[in-house]
Amino acid sequence: MERIGLDQSALKAVDDYWEYRRIVGDDDGEKLFTPGQYEEYRKKMFSQRLKNRLYVSYGVPGGIDCKLIGPETQCFCAHRYKQHKTDWEVVPSERPLALPCRVKGCCCPAYEYVPRLGPNPVRCRCKHLPQHHSEAAGHLCKSCNSCSGFQSPYTCGCGQPSSEHQTLVETRLEREARGQPVGRDVPYAAMGGLTGFSSLIDGYLALEISGSGKTITAYNLFVFLPREAKVEIHFYTCMVWCRSHSDTNTL
Ligand SMILES: [Zn+2]
Ligand SMILES: [Zn+2]
Ligand SMILES: [Zn+2]
Ligand SMILES: [Zn+2]
Ligand SMILES: [Zn+2]
Repeated sequence: MERIGLDQSALKAVDDYWEYRRIVGDDDGEKLFTPGQYEEYRKKMFSQRLKNRLYVSYGVPGGIDCKLIGPETQCFCAHRYKQHKTDWEVVPSERPLALPCRVKGCCCPAYEYVPRLGPNPVRCRCKHLPQHHSEAAGHLCKSCNSCSGFQSPYTCGCGQPSSEHQTLVETRLEREARGQPVGRDVPYAAMGGLTGFSSLIDGYLALEISGSGKTITAYNLFVFLPREAKVEIHFYTCMVWCRSHSDTNTL
């Protein structure tokens, strides 16, 4: 196999591109912003995200966060968190806070996490997968008549049935009031509930590890990490790396 050598300026261009993607997401409509547009976008979104970042988690109200949602985490509608409306100039005052899907033709009214068993989301009592149900509110099944709306008999790792869980979208103040970490300020799009490396591990596993007297090391993290989280860890590693190698933190 032929190896392609990249000189320093090419590497810098690759870094700049990933930094651009993490900040802009799909907001450029697949046509790269001009340097001027990018600068304007960056300035506006950076202050808006510092002020209006939304934190997304999945758990039983009053309990631990069983799962923290990252940009790549799939919704009931099968689209990823980053494909939903996560940036708000003004955060709506009604609760629960609904983050609708932005993908054309998708009727999903609010981001909603569905637990996964390996690569697949859990099934409904009617035995059909989320994708066989309507993504619109009520989640009626399109493949059978016996279903009154998606509900899974699955029991979460925390010991509670998944029906007791909800996807919680909260502001920084609301999250702080629950005593949960809010992490450092980041200018990136759709960070959801990610506030550090340990956010990538399911909440009850993190408790198990700390209960066993072990600290959450990179090794422990990898042993316990669900497959889907590996995309997030790659993303998060790149992000931390880029931040320590670029001047965005002086913005
Ligand atoms: Zn959705
Ligand atoms: Zn969708
Ligand atoms: Zn069904
Ligand atoms: Zn069903
Ligand atoms: Zn749980």
